[in-house]
Amino acid sequence: MNLILMGLPGAGKGTQAEMIVEKYGIPHISTGDMFRAAIKNETELGVKAKSFMDAGELVPDEVTVGIVRERLSQDDCKDGFLLDGFPRTVPQAEALEDIMGTLGKSLDYVINVNVEKEKLMERLTGRRVSPTSGKTYHVVFNPPKVEGKCDVDGSELIQRDDDKPETVKNRLEVNIEQQQPLIDFYSEKGYLRNIDGEQDIHDVFREIDELLKGLRA
Ligand code: AMP
Repeated sequence: MNLILMGLPGAGKGTQAEMIVEKYGIPHISTGDMFRAAIKNETELGVKAKSFMDAGELVPDEVTVGIVRERLSQDDCKDGFLLDGFPRTVPQAEALEDIMGTLGKSLDYVINVNVEKEKLMERLTGRRVSPTSGKTYHVVFNPPKVEGKCDVDGSELIQRDDDKPETVKNRLEVNIEQQQPLIDFYSEKGYLRNIDGEQDIHDVFREIDELLKGLRA
């Protein structure tokens, strides 16, 4: 099964990726993870990617497409893969069609874990963290026992700058703008499957699983 997983920040894409990979045994191919590993290992790719990532920009398409081409050619992808964080642009999506064509593969689904913007704001701005223990909480979904205090060491919980409403709103808007052309691209081609990401994690997975079971039948 050849899959692409999409979802805005806070939609729960990471959790669903883990669950899909665990159940179906396909490799999880995250271009973000590949770039982070390359930077850590100080490879040539890492050097190329670092300045873009540090600036919060996309790594140029030719670099990104190159690593995906190489990764999808590897043996462990022969029975399928889950792409995460790629494609991020329409030229990348077109390049992916070309790569898959060359490798004799075809896409099955583009799974979009869909959560309304207001819900994402609530999820993302509700995060609180203890500066001393590092433990994270959520004011609604995972509150500490005593409001505003860490369960581990009683420290005063703080909101990271990244989680402040204005920053979160901007990040979401940039992501929505970036994602929309891809949603349109895959919707027109009939690959897009919208999954309701506002349900409980296990119900979200059940919906994805129903879809994927059909591929294995
Ligand atoms: P992520 O972990 O998916 O949020 O990716 C982290 C960073 O890696 C992004 O902000 C980009 O700088 C870079 N990156 C990851 N995937 C891509 C992609 N498909 N195209 C361009 N840059 C990417």
